[in-house]
Amino acid sequence: MDYTQQVQQAVERRNGGEPEFLQAVTEVLESVKPVIERHKEYQDAAILERITEPERQIMFRVPWQDDKGDIQVNRGFRVQFNSAIGPYKGGLRFHPTVYLGIVKFLGFEQVFKNALTTLPLGGGKGGCDFDPKGKSDNEVMRFCQSFMTELQRHIGQDTDVPAGDIGVGGREIGYMYGQYKRLNNEFTGILTGKGLKWGGSLVRTEATGYGLTYIVEEMLKDTGSAIEGKTVAMSGSGNVAIYAVEKVHQLGGKVVTLSDSSGWIHDPEGIKLDLVQDIKEVKRGRIKEYADEVKSATYTEVGSGANVWSVPCDIAMPNATQNELNGDDAKTLIKNDVKAVGEGANMPCTPEAVEAFIEAKTLFSPAKAANAGGVATSGLEMSQNSMRMSWTFEETDAKLKGIMQSIHVQCKEAAEEYGCPGNYVAGANIAGFIKVADSMLAQGLV
Ligand code: NDP
Repeated sequence: MDYTQQVQQAVERRNGGEPEFLQAVTEVLESVKPVIERHKEYQDAAILERITEPERQIMFRVPWQDDKGDIQVNRGFRVQFNSAIGPYKGGLRFHPTVYLGIVKFLGFEQVFKNALTTLPLGGGKGGCDFDPKGKSDNEVMRFCQSFMTELQRHIGQDTDVPAGDIGVGGREIGYMYGQYKRLNNEFTGILTGKGLKWGGSLVRTEATGYGLTYIVEEMLKDTGSAIEGKTVAMSGSGNVAIYAVEKVHQLGGKVVTLSDSSGWIHDPEGIKLDLVQDIKEVKRGRIKEYADEVKSATYTEVGSGANVWSVPCDIAMPNATQNELNGDDAKTLIKNDVKAVGEGANMPCTPEAVEAFIEAKTLFSPAKAANAGGVATSGLEMSQNSMRMSWTFEETDAKLKGIMQSIHVQCKEAAEEYGCPGNYVAGANIAGFIKVADSMLAQGLV
């Protein structure tokens, strides 16, 4: 058994019952095998053992009172995974499925993603098994205040800077920021995704969806193609999906599907974004309401067979959640001649799906590269907060675009250097790993 396999076994032994975390680790270990074989110093310094073990894991009780006066108790998490290249950085997810394994998988992915952004950002992630759906604004506020009352001990502008993720948008960031400020009596950049009037950055809201679209455009450009004139199938209808639709439409493509956890819509005439934003961002409603209003659209409930990936498209962007696109979905997309896939969500494609895309030579940008625009712009928000300045939309968007182009080049060059040209999964893992591993080597046994 070689070094990588030994570490894989040890990680499996120590992290039983956390399949998402093991899935994320397995992919990285497989990708970096040729790097480990070429650089014995990583094995000598036990880099793989250390990089797969979080520096710190925090779990805490979150008690709060609902509108009826009943007491509710949730479980909060913050996993500070790796600080070799900067303060821990990564979002908070509020969703009933959140448990330690999900937070660890997201934190582990974040380490390599953040390394790709070219910015000095370590990796972390957090969240809670709280479900904001169906809660009143006051309930969400009381919950956020309780969550931050504990979390504030562990974060800081130079230590750990959380942001949003599933279930955590501008409203939740606002309530958490207010509570941090009240407890610490300081106005510093301890969260990103803040409102524009109180320390937020222009483009942060749009960043993940825009960045995803920019990197898909870069991949297509390499093959003499472009998004213009292409049909795009997308899942999700949250922050990532909404701004990916906006950018795809600006670049002349046409998005024809969106979804939420209840069902999905197909509008062959192209998704009307204003309506989606009204349903999702203003009314906090369900995607079904789109088909109730738009004649050209159809709605299909989850569980009735087909999903968004059955709709013929040139480009697929899974933007909802982990493992939402499986091997069969990938085969359907390939059969329908999909040209490019960009992962807007974190780990949305199962290992079987990723393998199928790589085998079919479909252009495939993995989440670590494709959705890094969100955290990159969070990094830009941190810079602006430290400088007490703010950049214009155009300036920030140009920086985001430059970062996405750099990420694409890093993935491409690392894949070529290690003998798998065109495999951006391996390229992203290798490029991110080398930056973090070299920094860990330089800093000694910590
Ligand atoms: P939102 O909460 O804004 O939207 C999530 C969307 O995905 C909703 O449409 C939601 O539907 C759907 N969804 C969530 N869970 C499930 C599920 N289990 N099954 C089916 N659909 C589901 O989140 P974001 O758009 O911010 O995040 C989406 C993905 O992108 C996540 O994987 C996140 O980690 C990743 N990401 C987000 C970044 C950001 O800046 N926001 C940055 C990088 C990655 P419903 O409303 O019914 O739950």
